[in-house]
Amino acid sequence: MSDTPTRIALITGASRGIGAAAAKAIAAQGRHVVLAARSTDKLEEVAQEITDAGGLASVHACDISDHVGLAELVEKVASEHKRLDILVNNAGITRDNLMLRMSDEEFDDVIHCNLRACFVTCRAALRPMMRGKFGRIVNISSVSGVIGNAGQANYAAAKAGLIGMTKTMAKEMAAKKITANVIAPGFVETAMTVDLPDMVKKMATQLTPLRRFGQPHEVAAAIAFLTSEDAGFITGQVLCVDGGMAM
Ligand code: NAP
Repeated sequence: MSDTPTRIALITGASRGIGAAAAKAIAAQGRHVVLAARSTDKLEEVAQEITDAGGLASVHACDISDHVGLAELVEKVASEHKRLDILVNNAGITRDNLMLRMSDEEFDDVIHCNLRACFVTCRAALRPMMRGKFGRIVNISSVSGVIGNAGQANYAAAKAGLIGMTKTMAKEMAAKKITANVIAPGFVETAMTVDLPDMVKKMATQLTPLRRFGQPHEVAAAIAFLTSEDAGFITGQVLCVDGGMAM
């Protein structure tokens, strides 16, 4: 029997897509996963799947536009479980528009939900992780934040901002045994991409050396690895899971 207590992992945006797949992969590593998003009914379904497979899962409602509530959620999870070991900031939104037409609101909403929200959850998670002398933070960026993408000035700025913030956190927290890394997915088959016009899907596929969209479980495998004990010597990195798009 290992002396390591069950590690607690908070995953935002776990009701579907990459977040749900990440929750399942992290639960399969023996962690207790705390699933957060707005749709608690969908979260319950994911949690049920995890518990049916013998894993541990619980559910909390959260809205990444409410930053006071987000910080409270992190504190609540840490106090309920008396620890918080893993944080995956996965929830995200898009408000695409060409820069010439992009409104201030479209820009601000995406920065607020995709960048500031992650700052708030990371900051709240650091103290419990320091107390536990262990931490794994994975922030989900995007290939857009690495190479830019027409129509996504707001999203690319937020996702690039996540990279700078995560590298800074990695430097500040290394001495406390907390690692912080970024996953930058390319085009992945989820609700976020399902309604893209066929022309855009075709173009994205052509720009991807592996000539296809990724699947959520393929991104989830990389997320789960970076949260594992074995990834303890990796910090401040950006891992592109993008079929080769950003190389
Ligand atoms: P998705 O299928 O649209 O899922 C988004 C998740 O975020 C859902 O669980 C959703 O749950 C949650 N969410 C959305 N707005 C929220 C809010 N205001 N408060 C709390 N939760 C919220 O997207 P995905 O493709 O899995 O994307 C996951 C992450 O990967 C995002 O950060 C995205 O930017 C990034 N990414 C995706 C792709 C791609 O091609 N799919 C590419 C690069 C990066 P509720 O609606 O229940 O709240």
